[in-house]
Amino acid sequence: MSSTLDKSLVKKIDELQEFSINTIKEMVSIPTPVPPGENYKEFVEYANSVLKDIGIKTEIIEVPKSILKQNIPEMADYPRYILIGRVKGNSENPVVHFNGHYDVVPPGEGWNVTAPFVPNIIENKIYGRGTADMKGGIVSAIAAIKALLELDIELNGSIEISMTPDEEIGGLCGAKYLIENKFVNPDYVIIPEPSGYDRIWIGHKGVLWGEITVYGKAAHASVPWNGINAFEKTVNLANVLFKELKPKVENKFTEYNVDVPEGKRATIVIGSIVRGGIKTNVVPDKVVFQFDRRILPEEKFDNVVAEVIEAIEKAKEQDPELKADFKTLLRADPAVTPPEAKIVCELKEAVKSLINKEPKLTLSTGFLDMRFFVKAGYQTVSYGPGEISQAHVANEYLEIDKMMLVSKVFGLFIKNVLKGGEKDE
Ligand SMILES: [Zn+2]
Repeated sequence: MSSTLDKSLVKKIDELQEFSINTIKEMVSIPTPVPPGENYKEFVEYANSVLKDIGIKTEIIEVPKSILKQNIPEMADYPRYILIGRVKGNSENPVVHFNGHYDVVPPGEGWNVTAPFVPNIIENKIYGRGTADMKGGIVSAIAAIKALLELDIELNGSIEISMTPDEEIGGLCGAKYLIENKFVNPDYVIIPEPSGYDRIWIGHKGVLWGEITVYGKAAHASVPWNGINAFEKTVNLANVLFKELKPKVENKFTEYNVDVPEGKRATIVIGSIVRGGIKTNVVPDKVVFQFDRRILPEEKFDNVVAEVIEAIEKAKEQDPELKADFKTLLRADPAVTPPEAKIVCELKEAVKSLINKEPKLTLSTGFLDMRFFVKAGYQTVSYGPGEISQAHVANEYLEIDKMMLVSKVFGLFIKNVLKGGEKDE
């Protein structure tokens, strides 16, 4: 960090610690678990008031009910809202955009430090559902923008911040809706998911959730020769999947670094859900099982599907009596922003200037809303103050100093990318 301007920006963000703590406390106190998507309106109204208070122009978009019915029919009675805040500098472009999801996973059991939606601070840690994933990251971005505005730093471009719902259930009525309908058109996107303050996620693996149904023929178990045992057929098929498909999948490696070394390979978990049979004395007529296949950025989704179908066909060749079909339950494409992209270089520099070491550049093994932004052609990374080990667990917490540190990173990043300087009086 060299310039006096950088130093005053960092100092200003330090002064915003109390503001940041109060804001995250309020945000965590509004429970927004999904499914089904509760209190979204309350959250967006609160966040809207925070943005307006610091001088950001805002817009609230209600996702049309028809879109909810189409994508999440079982939750269509819970409205979805997207909040967008905009700060325009001397010019419209380039646009630096921050996106955060405000939904959280349900709290689950095992909380003993505090109740999930009653934020509690113990020393440097703030506990509560959504602190790490990812209301804290949203606050880091807000405080950075507030500091830039309070210092009246001249910006050659715009800053945007969007808050979207439903990331935890696939983002179809959140980030996907925002991007596909072109409500924003950013150049650089940062999503403050819990990557950890010293790691930038330049991408993530994709996923195929698939379901295979194997058909048999029911009969009384006292006369099994009249039926076809769907479980037996499933075992034969599963054998082909385990012996041929799984090794093939696990032989594929990505060139990128992944959070953990084991993550460099593609993976498949077969049988994550298995259902079948109706009664002990009936030959099972149907078995349904699911699998989870994690996809590398180097792979094409269609090829991943084709591989599964090929394995099923092979099993059918070996057992002409086998009847099985396949369907895709969820498609999430892998995404990656090249390490040499401007957004990565600038963010890396900003992190380095504050922590005096190079941040790691890795892929997340879990899929993120990032894929929608990358698909639309925007340079996107995920970088935020929480630790991934804290996401979705009981007693989730965020370290307050990391929230403030990441806020400084964001402040410097915006200033550098938008070539911000002190205004001439
Ligand atoms: Zn998240």
